[in-house]
Amino acid sequence: MMEKDFINDSLIEELLHNTKEDAARVREVLAKSLAKQPLDLEETAVLLAIKSDDLKEELFNAARELKRSVYGNRIVLFAPLYIGNYCINDCKYCGFRKSLTTTVRKTLSDSELKEELIKLESLGHKRLILVYGESPLYSPEFIAHTVRMCYDTKFGNGEIRRVNINAAPLDVEGYRTVKSAGIGTFQVFQETYHKPTYAAMHPASTRKGDYLWRLNAMDRAFEGGIDDMGIGALFGLYDWRFEVLGLVSHAIHLKQTCGVGPHTISFPRIQPANGLDLELPYRVSDDDFKHLVAVLRLAVPYTGLIMTARESEAIRSDVMEFGVSQIDAGTKLEIGGYTDNEGGQQLKREQFQVGDTRDLDSVIHWLLKNDYIPSFCTSCYRMGRTGEHFMEYAIPGFICNFCTPNALLTLAEYLEDYGSVSTKETGYSLIDRELAKIPDERKRELVEKRLALVKEGRRDLHF
Ligand code: SAM
Ligand code: SF4
Repeated sequence: MMEKDFINDSLIEELLHNTKEDAARVREVLAKSLAKQPLDLEETAVLLAIKSDDLKEELFNAARELKRSVYGNRIVLFAPLYIGNYCINDCKYCGFRKSLTTTVRKTLSDSELKEELIKLESLGHKRLILVYGESPLYSPEFIAHTVRMCYDTKFGNGEIRRVNINAAPLDVEGYRTVKSAGIGTFQVFQETYHKPTYAAMHPASTRKGDYLWRLNAMDRAFEGGIDDMGIGALFGLYDWRFEVLGLVSHAIHLKQTCGVGPHTISFPRIQPANGLDLELPYRVSDDDFKHLVAVLRLAVPYTGLIMTARESEAIRSDVMEFGVSQIDAGTKLEIGGYTDNEGGQQLKREQFQVGDTRDLDSVIHWLLKNDYIPSFCTSCYRMGRTGEHFMEYAIPGFICNFCTPNALLTLAEYLEDYGSVSTKETGYSLIDRELAKIPDERKRELVEKRLALVKEGRRDLHF
């Protein structure tokens, strides 16, 4: 496959340099976005150029409104599971980089992986993202093997129903192998779209030093049969506005060439890590972080936005309403950290420091209190509603017919099997309120019937 460079640096720089705040233009762009049309680069730059507090407030209101109308009030929950941290690369920001001799290296054995899975299932998790360093140890066959283990390991009423991957870019055959194990999304973050910064962070002598190989990772994934693609940038390496335009360029490219845009976008901010002694002049402030999430929400209305536990509870509370659709909870980043977490966070055993250290039940309780429906739904991907067939947004009433009912059913499963007494009480009162909002009486009765079956012990009832 010919590698393509679809990041037009000079156009991005020009847009950032020449676009000045313009209230009338901002309102036109917000209106387009609220009509659920994706934005082009110039329109995205208009939103990035906002400086005044009043216009920022209009931007935030529009992002809030769009999130509610496209996604409703669900937040999908997942847990990351680090499989191994051997790495041949030397990314300057990462606690796993090859030259760091103080990092404790480990790959989970099958029995250790099984123990981690049992622990995660016993807490109520249903969706995982498996994370790997880049190493010949983590071949596509090995990755596929670990994915199959996730699906095969069951504990009580617990099971893993969707496994996503964050690993080094593969070749087309490699993606095919991993896809055959039944993965959901394959994520590769470009880290920075800015070529000189990319070169400064990733030594040319390393595999990851090849910008274009990474930039085309999702094109190869699509060719290998993966149509749920996850992209992302590591914010803090270069100007955040440049990275947003890089992400939007990437989304436009995928839509044009594959017929389907990215399934998710991640926007991690760089965190303290073992051996991290970089000067980071481009660190993103909390205010700019809010701005960037709101702009992403409006620029790519149909792409899920993931905010990880790198962020603190306070930031997560603040930013979620502007457009986040998925978060992780109860996160442990040490390899084997779900079963062995004595002594709390240990930077030498993990990739970076976690900001939100609450356990899953506390996060669920917090979401419920804030009127979000915590969801473990995995229905679309298991029913074949993925990629270009992913009709969530095309079919009128999709959220009412599928997403909200499935979110309520998976929440009820959680409350029955794993919820603390107070979470159970708060959860069922939210379920009652949400049921009352389902407009179609027949549908409401159907959901009520299934909820009654969940209380009787039936599991995995989804629409
Ligand atoms: N090794 C694979 C790769 O680099 O593609 C898998 C991904 S790595 C284990 C997961 C992601 O963590 C990276 O893509 C990067 O964006 C992020 N990351 C690395 N160091 C970080 C840090 N110090 N703070 C926050 N995120 C970091
Ligand atoms: Fe390795 Fe990924 Fe860390 Fe780079 S970011 S050092 S490739 S684990």
